[in-house]
Amino acid sequence: MSRENIRNKNGARRRALRKRVLASSDTCAICGQPVNKSLPANDPGAPEVDEDLPVSRGGSPYEYGNCQLVHRRCNQLKSNRSTNWARNAIKGKNVKPTSIPFKTSEW
Ligand SMILES: [Zn+2]
Repeated sequence: MSRENIRNKNGARRRALRKRVLASSDTCAICGQPVNKSLPANDPGAPEVDEDLPVSRGGSPYEYGNCQLVHRRCNQLKSNRSTNWARNAIKGKNVKPTSIPFKTSEW
């Protein structure tokens, strides 16, 4: 077995995992919004498979339990941080002044 064969095998494994993640989920694990799986790969809303625990921190890119469906833009925001961090960052961005309930005086 050459190194090349192992790489090809891992590529196939990753593709199979991507298929499985895409088939099992319709919403982004970070922002909770629906993911349009027909968007091209370079679209900010395109589906991407993200590792909950980043590979750079010891997470496995081939383990289904470590992978989740996310938007391309959410994945880019998350980078190698935690999913919770990204969720909070998105929440912070989505805060609208009008969504905060406040009491108005009648006079
Ligand atoms: Zn998202």
